[in-house]
Amino acid sequence: MEQDRSSQSRPPHVLVFPFPLQGHINSMIKLAELLAIAGFKLTFLNSHHNHERLTITDGLPLDHPRSGNWFLDMLEDTMELKMKESLREVIVNSSPPELGIPIIIFRTSSPRSFWVSYSIPDIIQAGELPINGSEDMDRLITTVPGMETYLRCRDLPTFCRKLDIEDSIMKLVVKQTRKSLQADALILNTAEELDGPILSQIRTKCPRVYAVGPLHAQLNTRLNAKHGESYDHFSNTLWEVDKSCIFWLNKQPNRSVIYVSFGSITSTSREQLVELWYGLLNSKTKFLLVVRPNSVIGKDGEGEDVVMELMEKSKDRSYIVNWAPQEAVLNHPAVGGFFTHNGWNSTLESIVAGVPMICWPYFADQHVNSRVVSEVWKIGLDMKDVCDRKIVEKMVNDVMVDRKEEFAKSAYEMAKVTNQCVNVGGSSYSNLDCLVEDIRIMSL
Ligand code: UDP
Repeated sequence: MEQDRSSQSRPPHVLVFPFPLQGHINSMIKLAELLAIAGFKLTFLNSHHNHERLTITDGLPLDHPRSGNWFLDMLEDTMELKMKESLREVIVNSSPPELGIPIIIFRTSSPRSFWVSYSIPDIIQAGELPINGSEDMDRLITTVPGMETYLRCRDLPTFCRKLDIEDSIMKLVVKQTRKSLQADALILNTAEELDGPILSQIRTKCPRVYAVGPLHAQLNTRLNAKHGESYDHFSNTLWEVDKSCIFWLNKQPNRSVIYVSFGSITSTSREQLVELWYGLLNSKTKFLLVVRPNSVIGKDGEGEDVVMELMEKSKDRSYIVNWAPQEAVLNHPAVGGFFTHNGWNSTLESIVAGVPMICWPYFADQHVNSRVVSEVWKIGLDMKDVCDRKIVEKMVNDVMVDRKEEFAKSAYEMAKVTNQCVNVGGSSYSNLDCLVEDIRIMSL
């Protein structure tokens, strides 16, 4: 019946509009591909900076480096002013000026961080924020329903560390999070089996929540079923991918290499990089390190010089690239661990590949994610708030040598459960079918 209707009527037209950052674009493109496989007409809107041939500005100058936490609220301001206007033009030009276009929000960050952000006014009201100095950081936060037993002050998003509960980023995140729940529906990149207890909490505020992730794994399943092929791991990135690291990995024994990468926005200080490098070197484990251009804080070129100097000294033990084909790397048999900042995409990619993590979160949802990885799922260790060569060495040895079997087993189990969710009959697979059906109904 469903097929009859879809073949007779015009397919729904979905406008996909990501926040203009790599992590958001990655998962939005995958969602767009999945809706295209379902037969929908898709328009994918991007910003000048990220895609020159597309049509609107994100409001920042083209040569802006777009790294670090501080630029996020600036981006939000410029988006609010300039993108809104451009978006209105796109919608009005491409279809008759209709009001009442259904809006479905896709939050690309983790559901637990979404829920923490939603709960911030309650945390403040209960007097659990602001934080009272550094000795207070291990105190449990008891006012986020479903997370009472493991969420500490140090696991809250970094903007909660400021003593100012009027902080502009905090206010912005709370505002956007609460606004998302006014949409017609909410899509989350997770699975019922990964985040079930928190999804139940979110559903008390917004009944239509579709957990359809991990999207990259779901896309693989659907593409395989349709065309007998997986999707292109090397596509969709804003930087040039250096595939040479795969040849280097091909020469390494199974599960002998730790992959070290901190996503597309973070920047590292020179001192942090030196501690990290010594820790890795002293651990005796081989490592594949990603250092994006301009991601080491220092005077012009100074940061990169340090990297080159260090890497020269550890040539026989390491390989460095500006940007890796991350999913291919994580699925490579030589990789046995992931030293990560716990961006949500990286976290999901590691889970699906069955690779244990060492977590070194910076900002946004990363502190919540690293706590869940280590304390709830127990598929890694959380190095949060320290960067000391001795601790790096110890954690790498734990994950890659001393507790290798324990972590490999829990990561394997987690991967198995998660991969089942995106197979036919799995929760995320069925939820995507429901989403597709509901979009068809909404667009009638
Ligand atoms: N990524 C990549 N190559 C790299 C580093 C990162 O392809 O060398 C991809 C990674 O696979 C992930 C995305 O960039 O899909 C980063 O998103 P995430 O949510 O982990 O972190 P963010 O960049 O938003 O902090």
